[in-house]
Order: sequence, then C-alpha cells, then structure tokens
Amino acid sequence: MTEKRSFDAVFVGGGVIGLACAWRAAQRGARVCVVERAEPPAGATNVAAGMLAPVGELTFGEPELLELTLASGALWPEFAAEVEAASGVETGFRQCGALHLALDRDEAAELRRRHDLQRELGLAAEWLTPSRCRELEPGLAPTFVGGVLAGGEASVDPRALVRALAAALHEAGAELRTGTEVVDALWSGERLAGVRTAPTPDACPRYEDKRRGDDEVRADVVVLCSGAWAGQTAWLPDGARPRVRPVKGEVLELRPRPGDGAPASRIVASERVYLVPRPDGRLIVGATQEERGFDTVVTAGGVHELLREAYRVLPDIAEMELAGAIAGLRPGTPDNLPIVGRGPVEGLLYATGHFRNGILLAPLTADAVAATLSGSEVPAPMALADPHRPTLVLNTKTSVGVGGAEVAR
Ligand SMILES: Cc1cc2nc3c(=O)[nH]c(=O)nc-3n(C[C@H](O)[C@H](O)[C@H](O)COP(=O)(O)OP(=O)(O)OC[C@H]3O[C@@H](n4cnc5c(N)ncnc54)[C@H](O)[C@@H]3O)c2cc1C
Repeated sequence: MTEKRSFDAVFVGGGVIGLACAWRAAQRGARVCVVERAEPPAGATNVAAGMLAPVGELTFGEPELLELTLASGALWPEFAAEVEAASGVETGFRQCGALHLALDRDEAAELRRRHDLQRELGLAAEWLTPSRCRELEPGLAPTFVGGVLAGGEASVDPRALVRALAAALHEAGAELRTGTEVVDALWSGERLAGVRTAPTPDACPRYEDKRRGDDEVRADVVVLCSGAWAGQTAWLPDGARPRVRPVKGEVLELRPRPGDGAPASRIVASERVYLVPRPDGRLIVGATQEERGFDTVVTAGGVHELLREAYRVLPDIAEMELAGAIAGLRPGTPDNLPIVGRGPVEGLLYATGHFRNGILLAPLTADAVAATLSGSEVPAPMALADPHRPTLVLNTKTSVGVGGAEVAR
C-alpha cells in the first residue's frame, strides 16, 4: 500500500534533535512529520545523562564549542518551561549546579588549569576547599584535594524531555510516525522530494498498525537528524552523507532504597566519572567513551570502571540499587562540533553530529532549523556548525564531493 502525503519538512530520526527541531518548526506554522524507526525515547537520547553543563564540558582548544554550548545553555530555562507548558509533561529540568572534584594532587593540578581557563573566559566557576565542598554535599568521600563549583549548570531527564516533546509536537498538530524506518529517498530531478519508509515493528514494542506497509512521505525539505547513523545514510549520494561516526558511551542508573534520598543534590564529577541526580532520587553515573563502531553491548569492564570511580566520589552509592546499565552512541564529528544547515543536495538539511552535547544543544539547534525552514535569520553562533566548514572536508581518494561537503566511505 502506498500513500502520498505532503509536508513542508520530514525529520529523519526522533531523538532529542529531531523532536525539538520539528516542534519549533511546527510552532512557526510548518507542516512537519517525524519518522522514527523505534519508539522514543531511543538512540543516544535514551542513554544521555542530561547534563546541561557548558562550564564543566569546557575542553582546551574548543572555543567554538563553548560559544555554542553557552548560547544554547542560556535558552534552556525558557525552553524547558515552554515544552512543559505546551505538553503538560515535566522534563526534570533543574538548575542544580555542578561540583567538580580533584581526588588527588595530579587531578588538583589539572582542575586548577581548567579553573584558570574558566576564569579567563569569565565563566561562573569558584574554587572551593574540601570542607566547603562537604558543606554543600555532605555525602562526599572523606579525602580529596579540592573542588570547583559551577553554580549555573543544570540538568534535565532526557527520557522525560522526549515524552514532553512528543506530546508538544502532537499538540502543535505535527505527525510522529514511530516503528517506521526511512529506507530511501524520493527525488524530483536533482532535488530531494521526501523519503520512502518501511515498518519496523521489531524495533518498536508499541507498534500497532501492522497493516501499514511501505509508504512515502513527500516533503519540501528532508531534515537528517538520525544521530550516529547519519553518516550511514545509504539512500543519499556518497558526497551528501555527513561525516558522523558513533562514539560509544555506557551509563548506570542507581536507585535509592525506599525512604532514602539521593546522595547528592547537584551534579558531582571527578576527572573520570560524573553523577547526575534526578528529582526522584535516582542517580545517573556516566560515562565511558570508546570508538567501537555500532557496538552497544554493556561490558563488565565498563560497569566496573563506573562503579569504582563513582564510589571514590560518593561512597554512599554502595547502598543503592543498581537499577540499570545501558550503552549508547554519540554522534561524533571530526572537530566535535555539530553539523547544522543546508546540505549539498537541494532539499536536504542536516541537524546532526551533536556528539557529547546534544541535549544541551537542542534548543539552539531547534531555533536554527526552524529559522532555516521559515527563511528567517539563523542564530549567529550556529554559523560555527556550518556543514561546509573546512574541517569536514576530507582530502582522501575514498571521499567523493557533492557541492561543498564530503564524506568518508
Ligand atoms: C552515554 C552518553 C551520555 C551522554 N550524556 C549527555 C549529557 O549529559 N548531556 C548532553 O547534552 N548530551 C549527552 N549525550 C549526547 C546526546 O545524547 C546526543 O548528542 C544526543 O542525544 C543526539 O541526539 P540526536 O537526536 O541527534 O540522536 P539520537 O538520540 O541518537 O536519535 C537519532 C534517532 O534516529 C533514529 N534513526 C536513525 N536512522 C533512522 C532511519 N533511517 N529512519 C528512522 N529513524 C532513524 C534512531 O532510532 C534514533 O532514535 C550523551 C550521550 C551518551 C551516549
């Protein structure tokens, strides 16, 4: 059975990026459809810890990323309030602050260096003695050297956020097709004219309409927001596949015993681990980082490492229930910056490559994509995510260019 419907834009992938972009576009009056092969929350969004932490994520040599994360971080309070109001669903957004600890002298030297950089850049970050840290978080380990408080950092529950965005999208009159995979492109001459889809009931436990067969979604613009899989888009010409690769990460979910609260009230991190409290007392412990292709197996080694390092920071976690362990794939790019903007093929828009900051960068990306679709001005920092920037162009015989963007085969 082949149906033909027409939209202003079809979004390939219903992770935080696809849903947030589609929602913002729908708010501006666009007729949009999101196609997701699983049941949201899925993809990296289903695994993310949900830190909204530009200061803590600051890495030497990444000033462009900082500009993006600060700009998007500033949008978060209003974004969360708006999604919650539009959906009636809580997102777990909290401006909880973050405490970064140095557990030994080597870590203290490194933390000092990062703190100097944070201060040079005028970021809100304060060096604290161990006793002051313990006043803030009484559950901390008995010995460590010092800490940096980044009081403006926040967190959100990405799974709750996805539920809220899906509801908001529905309220805005947009369509979300789950259990549906984009398997091919529709072309009108050299221009993308939509996508062909196929049902994936196995990937979607709540998939109901088993009669629906292959389908077509016709649209003026195809927005590629398929996360770590964006670089594998076989239905695009070679040169139009963005340079995105999967970067594996594992996280644990710890739950307090009945009657106990969370052992920390803000994000607590060391050089090797971070712990993110949820409003209901759960603690998310993350995260490993490995280049292992599309492998999402949770390993004993990964769990061991996370638990060992978490225990060094907050010993009380030993009494918590180990409620879950999951691995996901960050959409990595060669320069760690996202890829957002028009692709080399007419009718193609990228919103991918958000690597370790996709939750944080969702509001800014959504504004940029909605602005591009409506022909209005894109937020200035998003120029840094230009798909045609030189760092994305490969100079190898195995890459083929179309327009400005190129891709590894
Ligand atoms: C362990 C871990 C911890 C993280 N912690 C944080 C954090 O604290 N803060 C932060 O900001 N970020 C964090 N991230 C990064 C963040 O999760 C990602 O950057 C973000 O989720 C990317 O969102 P996305 O929508 O682009 O991709 P995804 O969430 O991966 O969504 C892509 C979706 O596309 C679907 N899809 C793919 N191909 C097709 C197709 N052909 N047809 C239909 N659907 C398709 C997939 O099923 C998937 O649901 C973390 C990531 C990991 C792995």
